[in-house]
Amino acid sequence: MKKIKCPECEETFSIELDEYDDGDYLACPECNLELVVVLSATGRLSVKPAKEVDLENGYDEFYSE
Ligand SMILES: [Zn+2]
Repeated sequence: MKKIKCPECEETFSIELDEYDDGDYLACPECNLELVVVLSATGRLSVKPAKEVDLENGYDEFYSE
């Protein structure tokens, strides 16, 4: 289990990182903020707000209409 602190509402909750892979989405149980599981350079999984990951990747594929 890993404790996650929501960057939006600061709710703390636990997830089972074994059940997630890089790029998987989950939502904060409190405010429903979209979070993305990311694999760090050291091989550890953590989460980031989906909007931050979108910024890193550029948002062409999400916002081109
Ligand atoms: Zn939240």
